[in-house]
Amino acid sequence: MNWLDKMTRPKLSGFFKKRETPDNLWHKCRKCGEMAFHRDLAAARYVCPNCDHHMRLGPDARLESVFDDGAFEIIKTPEAPVDPLKFRDEKKYTDRLKAARAKTGAADAFAIAVGRITGQETVVLVQNFEFMGGSLGMVGGESVVRAAEKAVARKAPFILFAASGGARMQEGVLSLMQMPRATVAVDRVKEAGLPYIVVLTDPTTGGVTASYAMLGDIHISEPDAHIGFAGARVIEQTIREKLPAGFQRAEFLLDHGMVDMIVHRHEMRDTLSRIIRLLMTKNTWGPGDGSSPERSTLPVPIDAPAVPSVQAGKGAG
Ligand SMILES: [Zn+2]
Repeated sequence: MNWLDKMTRPKLSGFFKKRETPDNLWHKCRKCGEMAFHRDLAAARYVCPNCDHHMRLGPDARLESVFDDGAFEIIKTPEAPVDPLKFRDEKKYTDRLKAARAKTGAADAFAIAVGRITGQETVVLVQNFEFMGGSLGMVGGESVVRAAEKAVARKAPFILFAASGGARMQEGVLSLMQMPRATVAVDRVKEAGLPYIVVLTDPTTGGVTASYAMLGDIHISEPDAHIGFAGARVIEQTIREKLPAGFQRAEFLLDHGMVDMIVHRHEMRDTLSRIIRLLMTKNTWGPGDGSSPERSTLPVPIDAPAVPSVQAGKGAG
């Protein structure tokens, strides 16, 4: 070993060590570009402290944020045949599944949970966009069916937090078949007289918006969420027209009656609680006497002040 090796080696190793510092402590907001410390962001439920941008939220944090004391019971997601079409594009579907499972620690993009929201037992289904774009495949369809059956069996309201790029193309027609299946499943909840509430989060697109995500009794959206069926570029090319500003954003859909209200994530639990209590109240007035319900029979006074950040839809029906 000559003198040059002795001089340069320690410096080189020092340089490489520096690169090992964790780089996930700070998150950059996609909207305003500000950096936020990971603990502050988690405490704010991933709402940017600087510009109020609602970042994507995983199922665990979502479920914790809606249930009483953050307590809930996870219902095992159903199993389905794996890769029946032996699908392969740039990668094998089985390899994509493996990677998504390693990344999220979940079996698929859907999580079902039962818990209480201000005392009322409620079934909640959450889609995880981090798992193959929250795509709807056979496991997804089965999960909607199971969650709906659970809600009917327990006489509980059913809440969906939608986030999806659409049907899972690797399952071809088998994934498309989940759209009518999920539609029938949520219909059963309605037939049982139970509320089905949809919370649209960023982004909800494709086959999911073409089926169960747009069939709620009430549609709530998080601010600025991207909601649509086909992509804006595809629509522009098809109709050969420039689309209006804000097209497919929650606020645009609220103005056009596709969404009933836009609710800030920090107000979501209170709003859901209020809606559930209103919809779960049984009529207490007698049939056929033509009288209107007594104000005192409603769980929430009609003239109770609205939550400030809730915007009422103009054309919503
Ligand atoms: Zn921001």
